[in-house]
Amino acid sequence: MSSKRGTLVLYTGCSGVGKGTIMKKILERNNNVRLSVSNTTRPPRKEEIDGVHYNFLTEKQFKDLIDSNGYLEYAQYCGNYYGTPKKQVEDMLSQGYDVFLEIEVCGGLQVMEKFPDILSIFILPPSMEVLEQRLRSRGTEDEETILKRLGAAKKELGYKDRYKYNVVNDELEKAVDEVLDILAKEKSKI
Ligand code: 5GP
Repeated sequence: MSSKRGTLVLYTGCSGVGKGTIMKKILERNNNVRLSVSNTTRPPRKEEIDGVHYNFLTEKQFKDLIDSNGYLEYAQYCGNYYGTPKKQVEDMLSQGYDVFLEIEVCGGLQVMEKFPDILSIFILPPSMEVLEQRLRSRGTEDEETILKRLGAAKKELGYKDRYKYNVVNDELEKAVDEVLDILAKEKSKI
């Protein structure tokens, strides 16, 4: 941790693109990076732990925090709410950590509006075919959800040029290196 304020990073990519895997490696390799833990109304997957992967909330709990202006951004994605709690992000930034917001495009656009100069990175699949294969092989969603997510992915890809950087996740280690290089380069400018 440093005494300087950290950098906020908007980190987006469609479902199945491997952004979570890249993020895990980034956290292992750079101990000044923190991932913001989002709130969601989506039910937990088998391996997910409340408070670690997400804060799993009821719709009422989620909406209460909207009413008290507690989100930096929030959005509905494939029928569930997802949002970034404001306070947690602010605390980590003021402690000097670089904070990644791993969020989808609608939330990403809200964040860009609030912080027009934000460092923004969009993770791309090598192709739609590879994306579909990855989504299916991870086996965490049923067919209906997979189709919804593929539809959402096509729309999301249309926003990639709004992000400062596009990184193709073709080879995992290469993509991790690229994201870490971008962060280092942008921090050296500040
Ligand atoms: P999943 O259900 O696969 O965990 O997440 C679905 C999508 O919601 C992913 O693109 C993920 O990055 C995004 N997401 C996760 N947390 C947030 C959040 O706090 N806000 C927004 N807008 N999207 C989020």
